[in-house]
Amino acid sequence: MSTTKVLQLRSDLLPFGMEDFEDKVFDYLCDSRDLLSVDKFKKILSETGLRNSDPRLKETMDNFHDIEMKQLHDEHELRGYITRDTFKECVTDNITLISKALKNQFIIPEWTPFCENIREMFTDCKTNNAGKPATYIPQLARVNPAYWGCSVCTIDGQRFSLGDTQVPFSLQSIVKPLSYALVLNDLTPEVVHKYVGQEPSGKSFNELTLDYQNKPHNPMINSGAIVVSSLLKKELNIADRFDYTMEQLKRLTGGEHVSFNNSVYLSERATADRNFALGYYMRENKCFPDDVDLHEVLEFYFQLCSIETTCESGAVIAATLANGGICPMTGEKVLCAEAVRNTLSLMHSCGMYDYSGQFAFTVGLPAKSGVAGGVMLVVPNVMGIFLYAPPLDKWGNSCKGVQFCKNLVSKFNFHNYDNLKFTQRKIDPRGRATESKAQDVVNLLFSAYNGDVTAMRRYSLLGMDMSLADYDGRTALHLAAAEGHLTIVKFLLEKCDVSPFLEDRWKCTPFDDAKKFGHTETAEILGKAMTSDPDKDTSKMTSVFRSLHSD
Ligand code: GLU
Repeated sequence: MSTTKVLQLRSDLLPFGMEDFEDKVFDYLCDSRDLLSVDKFKKILSETGLRNSDPRLKETMDNFHDIEMKQLHDEHELRGYITRDTFKECVTDNITLISKALKNQFIIPEWTPFCENIREMFTDCKTNNAGKPATYIPQLARVNPAYWGCSVCTIDGQRFSLGDTQVPFSLQSIVKPLSYALVLNDLTPEVVHKYVGQEPSGKSFNELTLDYQNKPHNPMINSGAIVVSSLLKKELNIADRFDYTMEQLKRLTGGEHVSFNNSVYLSERATADRNFALGYYMRENKCFPDDVDLHEVLEFYFQLCSIETTCESGAVIAATLANGGICPMTGEKVLCAEAVRNTLSLMHSCGMYDYSGQFAFTVGLPAKSGVAGGVMLVVPNVMGIFLYAPPLDKWGNSCKGVQFCKNLVSKFNFHNYDNLKFTQRKIDPRGRATESKAQDVVNLLFSAYNGDVTAMRRYSLLGMDMSLADYDGRTALHLAAAEGHLTIVKFLLEKCDVSPFLEDRWKCTPFDDAKKFGHTETAEILGKAMTSDPDKDTSKMTSVFRSLHSD
């Protein structure tokens, strides 16, 4: 980013207190030598869901790397630690994202507990041994049936992956919504839907059938996808059409893994009697635009099915769809919002083969599966999830994939028709907009009780009142003192200026609690804070002194 751009950005953010944000972060994280550990800072960032490899943190991470190299060659430097000024220089280019992360302003603010829930669901599905991988081509039949991967990417680019998420596999039918979205991005829905309908077919995905207007029922079944392929950049030659599609998919993944599996393609083509039959049947029924070369279109369709992603890169595609066509990892607008909305609508009603109605009923989210075992699930405006497990059920959907989707909506209120206010048995992991002050108190006290200093730092950066008390007048400082969490006690006293004189309804100070539960060191720190506080309460001090010196 150029210097002028940085200046512009920073002056834009000034009214929001961004100017001293870097100082504030440094103050919270620095040690007694006024130095900040780079590893600690990176760890805190990663706990918000950001990866160190995130392209949006590139400048900051490059700066850290340069410093690390410099320190390696200079014996006077303290390795891994930086000063305030260096810290500020390092983070300045990416401060907007860093500030959003540390102020808990991502769509899933409590990332760690969310990921723990995902891990539980993932483990639960791992033992599901139902189903068999597709056998219609040897390339799919030979795959390791134990592969199981799950990747999550939110609309803020928070990432979490478990299992075999780096294994490339062919998209197969999952490419259908993507090619449909690309076509919609170029042509109006009216033009596209002159050739293909919007209704679930109620028949198998490769059925030789058309709707009452002699159109394929929808773009998510083979006939519809073949017609959509004929519309995709139809003015270009076939090689350029393939290049174009690959480029767009690469943009949808934010530059992550997209490849082409030639042997899958060759096998697809060699065993494509049904798709050829569909093609001829549709040509007879005038389903294609004029001048279409049927063989070329079918080849193109087989090639599209043979494009590969991994769970990792697929999750970014799903997140781009969740984010209205803007890739969360790059901020690039790849698809227009209307194209995405139309695509999600049809994924919702037709994306899971003949199980689509039941899936819409139980899961209530747009999804698309493919015969290689992939499932692309979209939680609109929240996140994308990509699942991969080759064994398929009788409908052709990944058994583990479907189970995971069901688990997800039974835990979180992501079903499209979950009532956000009254579905109390489910967790809403989204933002804090509706959280009340009462919830703040609970969170604050709970984190203090658990000794979760990272959470405490975040609450503080968010501007939360760290002296908040519950009905009994118990504060975070009381709980941390009673539990003997020394780091939290110090943090509250030194960094947040919480008064050590706060009393609960039984007139107990945090010092009293630390003493009562036998935390001598904690009591000493609190006692010192009370005796050195400029606003000291002398009446309390005498008793503190007495008990400090009686031990
Ligand atoms: N290549 C497959 C076909 O056209 C796609 C199958 C699928 O994933 O549904 O038959």
